[in-house]
Amino acid sequence: MTLTGDLLIGATFVPATAGTMKALNPATGELIGPEFAFGGAAEVDRAVRLADEAFDSYSHTRPAERAAFLELIADRLEAVKGELAERASLETGLPVAQLEGETFRAAAQFRKFAIVVRQGRFLQATIDPAQPDRQPTPRMDHRMQKVALGPVVIFGASNFPISYSVAGGDTASALAAGCPVVLKAHNAHPGTSELMGRVIQQAVTDAGLHEGVFSLVRGAGNEIGEALVDHPLARAVTFTGSEGGGMALYRRAQQRPDPIPVFAEMTSVNPTFVLPAALAARGSEIGAGFGRLALYMVGQMCLKPAILLAVEGPGFDDLRDAVMAEVRKVAARTMLTPGIHDSYLRNVRRMEDSGATRISTGPDPIREWDGQSLAYEVIGEQVLAEPALREEVFGPSILLVRLTDLEQLFQVARAFRGQLSATMHIEEPDHADAAQLLPILERRTGRIVVNAFSIPQEVSYATIHGGPFPATSDSRFTSVGMSAIERFLRPVTYQEFPDGLLPESLREANPWGLWRLVDGELARD
Ligand code: NAP
Repeated sequence: MTLTGDLLIGATFVPATAGTMKALNPATGELIGPEFAFGGAAEVDRAVRLADEAFDSYSHTRPAERAAFLELIADRLEAVKGELAERASLETGLPVAQLEGETFRAAAQFRKFAIVVRQGRFLQATIDPAQPDRQPTPRMDHRMQKVALGPVVIFGASNFPISYSVAGGDTASALAAGCPVVLKAHNAHPGTSELMGRVIQQAVTDAGLHEGVFSLVRGAGNEIGEALVDHPLARAVTFTGSEGGGMALYRRAQQRPDPIPVFAEMTSVNPTFVLPAALAARGSEIGAGFGRLALYMVGQMCLKPAILLAVEGPGFDDLRDAVMAEVRKVAARTMLTPGIHDSYLRNVRRMEDSGATRISTGPDPIREWDGQSLAYEVIGEQVLAEPALREEVFGPSILLVRLTDLEQLFQVARAFRGQLSATMHIEEPDHADAAQLLPILERRTGRIVVNAFSIPQEVSYATIHGGPFPATSDSRFTSVGMSAIERFLRPVTYQEFPDGLLPESLREANPWGLWRLVDGELARD
């Protein structure tokens, strides 16, 4: 595919109206062509209006038709996997093999959402039949199903340039719900974004859908994102990135004359607690595993375990030594963008200014935007006194917390803000303490892991990738996993409808063979 650099508005390739940019290869500092178009408020308006025009027909596609469209996107993504991974590697410095894996993951997400659409459970079809003879008052016929919200604005993430970006889980789940998508491409990987955007654009055409089902815009600065969030026809927003950016967009959406939901995934340190028996039995193994995962992808993962906490005692030195060894081993590698690299350096300095002591330093950086592996240590009192030590450092750094006793471990656990995940390493004798830690973690995280590390690969029905603020702006929802679709749906009750006028999911004959809640009981007749 020859990149054009154009915006993709419906089926049209739209040239720049507000300047252009080139992609940056963060490994070499080279600028890579072509010139990528920037648009402005006029292009946003065209894209969101088209999405609104597409909404009625697209949101009423039959399950089989919508699922086939999602599968077509999956097939087409796989067909360009080599090209996509090569380009993404040039624009992000991530290895090609890893990016090919991301393409498979992106394609798999579309296929899984196709299954969700075919199963139809997301509609939550519910029927409370009329009870004309009920005393003292008859009951009218009530039927409920979920309907799509409307056009959704999606901000592509920078750190997983394929599976969390243009063809990521947000796009797959919004399209599965029946919502047209207007995608704000991240400027960190414009060519990768165009490739994926064109795959989806072509699939829209080939599936015979309204062209407004998908558009991709790009702009300089905040104006384009603000115009998207402000657009009166936009009905929801998803975002993955910084807390500052996410909250600016969240507040903006709440200040609209008609506020709309913003599902922002922002920041998480994913604390890992090692309880005493596990520490004594497996200190070294846990330290090495923790170190490997914290430094994976140059520490640029939302589920990067950043803070390791343990009570001083047998095994603590093994844990510490293993972490330090891992840090010494892992070479500095190119970070995703110069901006992310600068913010890594700033946040490391913040940690040092807050009293953290460096205990291990990885190999020296070679290139300008390489992130150097680093480990720091503090004691429990410091973490309790200094909130900055409990904040994310996006990059390859680790903070080890030396605690005096379990009481202090519980106290520190209570001090964390909302998290995407938390991990406990335990052995049988730790179970009573783990049971005390559990409710503290449940209040603060969307995922609790035992004797493993939370990694983002699994996209399943039980996956939750969300959590209390500031992990996300709405802890009731997930951005990864099959229930991510719920962000884009709302319930509607149909009362006393003639059968022929009801949505097919609620008709007496159950033409789609759905499992439905009939008078409170699951039924498929
Ligand atoms: P970001 O700066 O928050 O930007 C994300 C996207 O939102 C970009 O497209 C950006 O557009 C747009 N944006 C941000 N603030 C905006 C505003 N006020 N108004 C309108 N649009 C706005 O995130 P990033 O560039 O991906 O990375 C920066 C930092 O975010 C990282 O250092 C890291 O701390 C954090 N991050 C966290 C995660 C996570 O999963 N927890 C993932 C990625 C990044 P422009 O690029 O045009 O400004």
